[in-house]
Amino acid sequence: MTDSSSDTKDIHRADRHFLHPWEDVTAIGETPRTVLTDSEDIYVTDSDGKRMIDGPGGMWCVNVGHGREEIIEACAAQMRRLSYFSPWSMASDVAANLARRLAALAPGDLNNVFFTTGGSTAVDSALRFAFFYNNCLGRPEKKHIISRVNAYHGSTYLTASCSGKMREKAEMDMIEDHIHFLSCPKPKDRPAGQSLEAFRDEKVAELEAMILSVGPEKVAAFIAEPVMASGGVIVQPEGYLAACAEVCARHDVLFIADEVVTSFGRLGHYFASESVFGVQPDMLTTAKGLTSGYQPLGALFISDRLIAEITAATNEGKGFTSGFTYSGHPVACAAAMANLDIFERDGLLEHVRRIAPYFERALRSLSDIPVISDIRVMGLMAGIECELDPANPDEDRDMAFAARVDAACQRHGLLLRPVYNACVMSPPLIITETQIDDMVRILRRGFEEALAA
Ligand code: PMP
Repeated sequence: MTDSSSDTKDIHRADRHFLHPWEDVTAIGETPRTVLTDSEDIYVTDSDGKRMIDGPGGMWCVNVGHGREEIIEACAAQMRRLSYFSPWSMASDVAANLARRLAALAPGDLNNVFFTTGGSTAVDSALRFAFFYNNCLGRPEKKHIISRVNAYHGSTYLTASCSGKMREKAEMDMIEDHIHFLSCPKPKDRPAGQSLEAFRDEKVAELEAMILSVGPEKVAAFIAEPVMASGGVIVQPEGYLAACAEVCARHDVLFIADEVVTSFGRLGHYFASESVFGVQPDMLTTAKGLTSGYQPLGALFISDRLIAEITAATNEGKGFTSGFTYSGHPVACAAAMANLDIFERDGLLEHVRRIAPYFERALRSLSDIPVISDIRVMGLMAGIECELDPANPDEDRDMAFAARVDAACQRHGLLLRPVYNACVMSPPLIITETQIDDMVRILRRGFEEALAA
């Protein structure tokens, strides 16, 4: 363990060469970051030896928890046996077996697994497959994508362009034509007096109106996270997703479920689309919990129906000319296999379904804190929104407050993830009731200190 302050200072000096995601390029490394050195179970330890609950589960990904020997061993054994194979020309047992295992777990006829290097590349591949599909079917004009304000779909040019966190797009050129945004289906923002059902119907009608105004012959796909994660854990009204899927099917628009966060147990199921929301997507993307973050790996699932339609529409072979050096990387696949073994052996999905109501009740016990304006929880993901003055919301001030809560919680042993004015949590799925109590106790203290500051 690195625990001396001189070591930490040296890491900070070295870190000035690491341009971190979303970092201010005019001040690289100027705000020293907490240096993490060790991890175990639901905890991470920093270079001062302080142990903290990993509230965001890394980045929505450390689902089976830290330090799982089975995954470590599986990766090491795989590296010793076959460290790499070219997915262009070769196959390997571990990647093939993982693809078969995932196809059996995925909903409906999502039997075709395209491995990627993470979530962005999975979503990028899904969008590009939608274009490819329509080209194969002889309708090259059917290329428009519909997304939603506050959605996050990744950091490639195409996926960032489909992400609807407008604040983050200011200085980056994005693809603007062919991509359309619906308003965010965030129940808290509905007009006073409007029922959830009426709000839901309005949002679904907005999707249909968008398809009709662009022209169904031009709209390729609607992409949606079943629960918006990086947008602040936005839980959409019951029935919303299924109704959107129905609208898409009626207008021959592909429904892409971005389950990069919501799959692999976060909502108590391997995949949430069908099991939680009753939706059968045409394509589905996953990453993160697929390996619990032990190795970078993502996957796009494509339905048999789409493959069959392409096959029927063409008289010649049609290569999906896309892929990565690390598609189906054997070490990442070995990590995913060992990860799935843990899910099965430890009954992790059942554990999440059992403990999720406790997690929700515990977080809702914070609702007496006046600055908390909304508590959103589903499965083991949660967003606690802060508004210092609900009558005069000020995004910058409220964001600064959430960052203060985060800093105070860190001091007391809990990592959070501030997202705009919300504190977001997605702890490792192995969390216990006692650990949830610890988390909520620190949260309360963090809010009190931030308010007093
Ligand atoms: N889709 C969703 C819903 C995500 O939350 C994320 C990452 N937070 C991505 C895609 C992109 O995944 P990655 O960072 O692995 O590229």
